[in-house]
Amino acid sequence: MDMHEAVAKPPVHALRNASHASTPLRLLCVDDCEADVALIVETLRSGGFAPVFQRVCTREDMTAALDRQAWDVVISDHSMPQFDGTEALAVVTARKLDIPFILVSGAVGEEIAVLAMKSGAHDYMMKQDLGRLVPVIRRELTEAEVRRARRLAEANLRSSEALLNSIVNTAADGIIVIDEIGMLEFANAAVERMFGWKPLELIGRNVDCLLPARHRNAHRPGSEDVALTSGVGREVKAQRRNGSVFPIELTFGEMRIDGRIKYAGIMRDVTERKWAEERIRHLAHYDELTGLPNRALFSQLLEQALSESKFSQKQVAVLFIDLDRFKLINDSLSHASGDTVLQQVAKRLTEALPRRDTIARLGGDEFVVLMRDCSIPADAAETAQTLLTAVAQPLLIEGQDYHLTASIGISAYPGDGENSQTILKHADIAMCRAKEHGKNNYQFYSSQMNLHSFERLVLERFLRHAMEQDEFHVYYQPKLDLLTGCVTGMEALLRWVHPGMGMISPTKFIPLAEETGLIVPIGAWVLRAACAQNRAWQLQGLPPLRVAVNLSARQFAQDDLLSTIVNVLAETGLAPELLELELTESVTMDNPEHAATLLKKLKALGIRLAIDDFGTGYSSLSYLKRFPIDNVKIDRSFIKDIPDDEDDVAITQAVIAMAHSLRLKVIAEGVESEQHVEFLREHGCDEAQGYLFGAPMPADEFREAMVRCANGIPLRARLTNRP
Ligand code: C2E
Ligand code: MG
Ligand code: MG
Repeated sequence: MDMHEAVAKPPVHALRNASHASTPLRLLCVDDCEADVALIVETLRSGGFAPVFQRVCTREDMTAALDRQAWDVVISDHSMPQFDGTEALAVVTARKLDIPFILVSGAVGEEIAVLAMKSGAHDYMMKQDLGRLVPVIRRELTEAEVRRARRLAEANLRSSEALLNSIVNTAADGIIVIDEIGMLEFANAAVERMFGWKPLELIGRNVDCLLPARHRNAHRPGSEDVALTSGVGREVKAQRRNGSVFPIELTFGEMRIDGRIKYAGIMRDVTERKWAEERIRHLAHYDELTGLPNRALFSQLLEQALSESKFSQKQVAVLFIDLDRFKLINDSLSHASGDTVLQQVAKRLTEALPRRDTIARLGGDEFVVLMRDCSIPADAAETAQTLLTAVAQPLLIEGQDYHLTASIGISAYPGDGENSQTILKHADIAMCRAKEHGKNNYQFYSSQMNLHSFERLVLERFLRHAMEQDEFHVYYQPKLDLLTGCVTGMEALLRWVHPGMGMISPTKFIPLAEETGLIVPIGAWVLRAACAQNRAWQLQGLPPLRVAVNLSARQFAQDDLLSTIVNVLAETGLAPELLELELTESVTMDNPEHAATLLKKLKALGIRLAIDDFGTGYSSLSYLKRFPIDNVKIDRSFIKDIPDDEDDVAITQAVIAMAHSLRLKVIAEGVESEQHVEFLREHGCDEAQGYLFGAPMPADEFREAMVRCANGIPLRARLTNRP
């Protein structure tokens, strides 16, 4: 190896030996003369450097040295036996290495030196005069450092530009830059996707080409609107190249570049979001099944109509439409067909209405019509009649003709209420009245209707749902034989536990159920529940007990009452003798012939019959003799004050005596005290029922009481009184 190695390896070792203040220097010497190099190194050392150096004097060695490591400076001789300074410089420049190259030669002519400088040498000097060497190296190192820093900065800039470019062009949002007069200077790739313009086509055009004609001024930079949108996403209309308009969210920012104002706009296509919002808005305001406005929208429209009519002095009418017996039809049809019925009805009502009137669906089978600027009652009545006729046309569903009717209630503004809620409520009340009037008719609201109507209305609505929601329960109250003290049976008493209102008294809801006819299905349910329960108790081994079920006049008027009872007995397997029906006097008085026939048939089945609340009606016992009655229940109002109230005492005594003479058994209701019992026993009353022996209680509790009773524990000692 003809290489003159004077380098300490690894270079770090040399660095460590260098004096503290010395500047490390990786020096490559291209020189055939070892002594010259030693001189150079020594000069540098004494000039404050700590050189780590290698001497080479052939092209191959120089190339290998350059390949092996980085160098801070190359100091080259000019003429060597196998190589020369110009060639050495060419090796460095060919490799595009930024290493300061200093020519140091014993005899370099001016010409060669200039040539070398032109070819990229950084300096030259004579070997005999190394006085400039240290400052030159220092200068070169500094400059090289500056060049390196610049290169790094440029590379950083290039890469952040590339990054920015790729971000801008892959951004889903459209990005544009425009100058102060609205000329486009930049558009990213998303702009092409959104608008159909290629970015390059846009450069130099006015931003107007992205806006629909009628919105152009509003978004022009410098306009107040743009000032407003600066920095804030605002929804505006944009226009595609093909002329179609779509919504975007636009954020504008102002910037100052080279003293000129520019605007950067970020645009987001919000078509889909708008569509979703629209859909949500639609769902919130329209009924999905029929496409009609829903209750919320109707309330708004009504509110609006009322406030308009306050100024115009015109009348507004609300027609509340409820289909008659829809539930019946709905239950007999599939779910889908039930929906079809509602859709058909909605269509008919809509078609029958004058255009300017609005129809909405409140839910279920309830529709409501808003008539603006109409005369009351003429226009409203005419429309109501038109709607009734439209509904009454036969409806073909599942290959069968259905005949629907509706009941309509009408209320008007001004007159029937001050605000939309009241007007709607009153139309609802009037509709209920139309139902009571036999359905398939319309009624105008009148203030008399409102007397007890609201509470009633609410209660009625809840009552309609109570059965579906399992809110009804049957309680049982024992009846005792006064002679033996044994339980002979129990009365089934309905309880309604509403989730919001709690326990609602039957005295409150039974009359309502009767008025609305709901008592028919409810009563049938109680009958079935009571018979099934009694049968279950029999199977569980309780002594044979008779269960008494109350029958309302409305049930009694039902043609299918007998078959309902027969079916219930058959289904539950309860012996007819263990069922008693309690009827009020009025039941027999409304239609005595019908009552006599029906009661005979019931009697023939073996069912026991009792007259409930006896004494509160106007019938007499001799009148009742026409009917096959077994028991008479003296109303608790007579029992309450005995033995203190002489009249009650006299009446009770007489009733017991007369009933016995007609071979009827007597049972006293509302027995609350020992005094009552004493009196009743003394006067031969057969049975008693009341809190003294037990309040109406749930089935489980009643069973437990019966079991204790059978074990010889007297009922009254065990049962807590409770209303
Ligand atoms: P009702 O048939 O005369 O029932 C007797 C009522 O007297 C029951 O009231 C019962 O809880 C109450 N009572 C029992 N013992 C005493 C007592 O010692 N003192 C007092 N102050 N009251 C006592 P309830 O359960 O509130 O029922 C009221 C009415 O509602 C019943 O009078 C009946 O006419 C009707 N009702 C209850 N359930 C049904 C039913 O399933 N169908 C029908 N149609 N009507 C029912
Ligand atoms: Mg009763
Ligand atoms: Mg009673």
